[in-house]
Amino acid sequence: MLAAMPQPPSAVSRDEPVIRDRGDACPGALRLHAADDGYLARVRLPGGLLTVHQAALLASAADRFGDGHLELTSRGNVQLRGLGDGCGTALAELLDAAGLLPAPSHERVRNIVATPASQDVLPWVRELDRLLCANTRVTALSGRFLFALDDGRGDVAALDPDVTVLGRPGGRALVRLGAAPGAVAVAVRNAPRAALLAAEYFLDAVEAAGTRAWRVAELPAGHALDDAGFAARLAAAGTDALRVPAVDWPSCAPPAPGPRDPLCVLPPFGRLSTGQWRVLVQVAEGGDGLRITPWRTVVLPGTPDPSPLEAAGLVVSPDSPWRGVTACTGRPGCAKSLADVRADARALVDRARGPLPVHWSGCERRCGHPRGTQWVDALATADGYRLSVDGRTLPHRPDLAAALTAARDGTARDSAVRKTTSSAQSPKTQ
Ligand code: SF4
Repeated sequence: MLAAMPQPPSAVSRDEPVIRDRGDACPGALRLHAADDGYLARVRLPGGLLTVHQAALLASAADRFGDGHLELTSRGNVQLRGLGDGCGTALAELLDAAGLLPAPSHERVRNIVATPASQDVLPWVRELDRLLCANTRVTALSGRFLFALDDGRGDVAALDPDVTVLGRPGGRALVRLGAAPGAVAVAVRNAPRAALLAAEYFLDAVEAAGTRAWRVAELPAGHALDDAGFAARLAAAGTDALRVPAVDWPSCAPPAPGPRDPLCVLPPFGRLSTGQWRVLVQVAEGGDGLRITPWRTVVLPGTPDPSPLEAAGLVVSPDSPWRGVTACTGRPGCAKSLADVRADARALVDRARGPLPVHWSGCERRCGHPRGTQWVDALATADGYRLSVDGRTLPHRPDLAAALTAARDGTARDSAVRKTTSSAQSPKTQ
């Protein structure tokens, strides 16, 4: 039997409005999520920035309250898992002492990604975070609303943000609303304030539409944001703005794991034991702090010595088979999962290489899947894994490693079909 292929979340069409019937339940550092392996806390790190001291305190929190691990998220944040019941107050006190909870009422809306290899974006990160934390209205944003501050190369700008600031030569920056073809140009110094005004523009549109839209792309057509309206708002707020109707939006690959320029570390599945994390922190002491990236890697600026990292099981080689391999939590941490996706991915990591990233998911939600790039979707079903690329299911092959290799190197894609096969026809891993 053939069934329609469910689209990954990033592929939801603008013509098919998302109807939200509730507020978002995105976890935070204060709003813990009850998972199968205990409570989960997500600590927002604007720009992925962490000092050595803050990173050391996070390890202490993971040991004291959690399962002794830290997880990197696809928005450059850190998660603690396996937290015990009733630890919320002590955890909040520890995070506050580390300076990681500057405004408790805003902790879930500080969703800012920034070009990890750039120092130029740091003033933007700090100013936008300051403006957000000082603005009561933006507490109405969902925990999924995303700001991207890109130095102009197009790495974080490709992550499907709600508001993008893109550096331009000549002291200008472009501010983009959702996936609009054009943008509004402002002076570099005004970019953080323009990003804040863009968020307020979105909230006004949500209110006028009477919806619960969480993202810019979810606004109904009659209430979509437009550059002309945004430029007028900026002008009314005293910020010079120039409409740029069409922009050739740049896009570039994220930093690859490697020992230099800058040192970029890949922990498999973005998950580190506190022992590994402390090695990372020790190495960072010779540099300029840590930057958690939205690709679940860690950039250590300031060229510290990388030699202890590989011995700790962390990847610093661009040729590693772990490059481009991601997975959701899966079993046993998530009850929705049909498989222990990380164990399955680990079993095949050496035998299923290729240039295209692969994301393993335990269910159709595909938590943490890649954005801004083509990727192989390895989805657990009742009988094995179903592989697809761009919503096109790949033909069944009895050997999953061979099927995955063909998908990642592109040789399987020509014969892909737009409809999915029944899960009973999918290859098994065991
Ligand atoms: S994709 Fe599904 S199985 Fe995986 S973590 Fe998300 S909800 Fe759980």
